[in-house]
Amino acid sequence: MSTIVFSCKEQDILIKRKPNPRAKRLSLRMSARDNGFILAIPPRTTDFHINAFLARCRPWIEKSLSKLFHVKQLSPGEELALYGIPFQCILDPLRRKPILCAVTQTLRLPPQCPQKALHELLKKIAMEKLTPYVMTVAQILGQHLEKVRFRDTKSRWGSCSAQKMISLNWRLILAPPEVAQYVCVHEAVHLLHMNHSKAFWKTVEELCPAYKDHKKWLKAHGFSLMRV
Ligand SMILES: [Zn+2]
Repeated sequence: MSTIVFSCKEQDILIKRKPNPRAKRLSLRMSARDNGFILAIPPRTTDFHINAFLARCRPWIEKSLSKLFHVKQLSPGEELALYGIPFQCILDPLRRKPILCAVTQTLRLPPQCPQKALHELLKKIAMEKLTPYVMTVAQILGQHLEKVRFRDTKSRWGSCSAQKMISLNWRLILAPPEVAQYVCVHEAVHLLHMNHSKAFWKTVEELCPAYKDHKKWLKAHGFSLMRV
C-alpha cells in the first residue's frame, strides 16, 4: 500500500492508497490507527482523478484533522470511562497530581493538571489492568512472554516482537474492556503465530469470539481514544 503525502494546514497528512477491485468510486476515510486517512481506489483510476478528488475533499480533511489530533483537556464535571468504569472528574485544589479514587469513582484533578501527569496516571492504570490479562492469555497459549510494555504510539494499538515482548498502547484503557482485551489477545496470539495467517485468526477467534466487532470498533472509534 503506497502513501500519498497531502499538505493541509501546514501539516503533512498521510493518505494510504488502497486499491479496491470492487469499489465503484473513490472514497476517503479517517483512520486513527494509521494516524491519517485511507483512500479506496477503484480499478482504472488515474492520478488525475485522485488529485481532483482529494482537492474536493480538502474541506472535509481539514475538519477531520481536529478529530485526529485534537487533544482535549479534561474538565471537572466530565465523565471518563476507564476500562468500562465511569469516573467523574472533580477539581481537588489540594492536589498537585491527578489521582483516581476507586471508592468514590472519581478522578481528582489538580487546578492546573499537566497533560503529562494525566497520561502517566492512565498508563499506570493500563498496566495494572491489562498486564495480568495478557499474561493469562500467554499462559493459556502455553507461550513464554518476556515483558509487557506500555506506550503511546499514535499509529498502532499493540505489537509483538520476536523477542517475546508485547507493547500495548495505554490508550486502550479508554476503550471498552472487550476491545482492549481483543488487542491483548491479538498480540498474545502473535507469540504463537508471527503473522496474520488463517491459523492466527482461528486462535484469536477461539479466545475472543466477537473479535471482528472489536476490530470494527477500533476502526470506527479508535481516533476518539487519542483525544485525551
Ligand atoms: Zn497483528
